[in-house]
Amino acid sequence: MIKPVIMTVDDEPEVLNAVERDLRKRFAADYRIVKAGSGAQALEAVRQLKQRNAALALFLVDARMPQMSGTEFLVEARKIFPDARKVLLTAYADTDVAIAGINQVQLDHYLMKPWDPPAERLYPVLDDLLGDWSASFRPPFEGIRVAGSPWSPKSHDVKDFLSRNLTPYQWVDVEQDAAVRAEAEAASPGLTRLPVVFFPDGTTLLEPSGRALAEKLGLQTTATKPFYDLVIVGGGPTGLAAAVYAGSEGLRTVIVERETTGGQAGTSAAIENYLGFPSGVSGADLARRATAQAKRFGAEVLTAREVAKVRVEAPYRMATLDDGTELACYALLLSCGMQVRRLEVPGIETLTGAGVFYGAALTEAAACRGKDVLIVGGANSAGQATLSFARYAHKVTMLVRGAALAESMSSYLVDRIKDTPNIEVLTGAEVVAAHGSGHLEAADVASGEARDIRRIEAAAMFIFIGATPRSEVAAGLVERDPGGFILTGPDLRTGGKLPRSWQLERDPFLLETSVPGIFAAGDVRHGSSKRVASAVGEGSSAVGMVHKYLETV
Ligand SMILES: Cc1cc2nc3c(=O)[nH]c(=O)nc-3n(C[C@H](O)[C@H](O)[C@H](O)COP(=O)(O)OP(=O)(O)OC[C@H]3O[C@@H](n4cnc5c(N)ncnc54)[C@H](O)[C@@H]3O)c2cc1C
Repeated sequence: MIKPVIMTVDDEPEVLNAVERDLRKRFAADYRIVKAGSGAQALEAVRQLKQRNAALALFLVDARMPQMSGTEFLVEARKIFPDARKVLLTAYADTDVAIAGINQVQLDHYLMKPWDPPAERLYPVLDDLLGDWSASFRPPFEGIRVAGSPWSPKSHDVKDFLSRNLTPYQWVDVEQDAAVRAEAEAASPGLTRLPVVFFPDGTTLLEPSGRALAEKLGLQTTATKPFYDLVIVGGGPTGLAAAVYAGSEGLRTVIVERETTGGQAGTSAAIENYLGFPSGVSGADLARRATAQAKRFGAEVLTAREVAKVRVEAPYRMATLDDGTELACYALLLSCGMQVRRLEVPGIETLTGAGVFYGAALTEAAACRGKDVLIVGGANSAGQATLSFARYAHKVTMLVRGAALAESMSSYLVDRIKDTPNIEVLTGAEVVAAHGSGHLEAADVASGEARDIRRIEAAAMFIFIGATPRSEVAAGLVERDPGGFILTGPDLRTGGKLPRSWQLERDPFLLETSVPGIFAAGDVRHGSSKRVASAVGEGSSAVGMVHKYLETV
């Protein structure tokens, strides 16, 4: 494949040559280094690269250049290569310029001049950004192809699984591409089973399950040991944080994740309030980094495997997997999070996956290009998705049950929504039915005091109406509140008393359930904050308590 490009722009020839030299030293094996002495020259080169169908991975641009500043250049360049990572080179006094860059072009980083030694001050930043870019980069050909019909729920599941596992694939609509349709028919006569997934090694899978895909992609689906110090049920932010700390502190640790690591956060288009990411971070990106970190510390991560039941076989805790195999451990963490609440109105169920989606379903963004989209819900997650889809869709209509958006959403999102011209917000509005043959075409929306019904045409509807805890796996074993959230630590007391099942002299640790050695943290826990940062905090704190527990067994 042709090498992707790193472009550097600087009007001072010595600086330009020095950057080019340092870039070549480190990246020439994998990237083509292209340099330009001005913004105008660089833009011309960018246009030519686009015409040649080249891939542009990263811009490294001087902030202060005559005629066209670094930020002005990036404003234009990102219209042509929106996914390329953007770095400004600034002098110390230019922090304001860099902050303006973050706001105007969603700058990924600003580097101070001089960047010597590059091994410390240049390469780590660029390595990180390029890793990030290549993880989401879709090569124009080669690789996996998914052939299916648009708006089909099964095709959506496959695309979602691949993209959440950062596996590049090409989507081909069998209605539109006769050649691929013929190929797909050869594998699936009459196209009764779609999608067909074609792999570069010549093999195919029909309507594959998450597990079949995981196995084909070489993801770990079975545990290597029969016994662990800590089994973590659920690989969202809570479980991942716990695995990082447990692994780094020498505990034999395994995460069992029913889908793909990242949990709810993994479906978020942009998490903007997580410490250390001033320009925001996508949930998928955060999940990728955390998963890599957990594995680096020796934790095992099983993908597309579900824990069906948790039980005690003293002195061990046992996790029974979906195929009946059992993992034994000393301590077990329930970090199963929450699942989205379903919208129960006529038409929704049959159209789910066919234009109706729960969560942000960013895999569908391309299919929404130029179309009208509905977002149901008024919390932050709905706001983030609205802004995200507004970049592709012709129009996004938000349907909010409350009287005002500000009742349920952070003000920074409310402001941005107000400033985006192709977003309309309907308050006091509820979806009462969905219509469409084969895929969503319109929704009936009731609003106003008289609950007048208005039909709104839309190609897609994304629903964000809250979630319920996934605690069934430990039902009947640990104490839960009436909403199904798991009780831990002091919350286990009623009328000052611990449950009768608690036999130990000591009190339960803060994140320990009514069963000693079984911990719960993150969204599934009663009283948790339902935020990424608190999930990560609880996951890591739980490991400290696991250590204390292990001292007693
Ligand atoms: C669209 C969206 C946007 C959001 N944006 C933000 C934001 O900007 N900022 C913020 O702070 N918070 C945000 N949140 C909230 C945040 O994502 C959650 O608080 C956080 O993900 C909770 O982490 P968790 O690990 O406790 O649970 P989850 O993220 O729910 O993860 C639990 C995991 O456990 C797995 N699992 C469940 N049961 C089993 C089982 N039996 N066996 C195996 N695996 C199982 C699930 O598949 C899942 O992957 C957002 C949420 C959503 C849905």
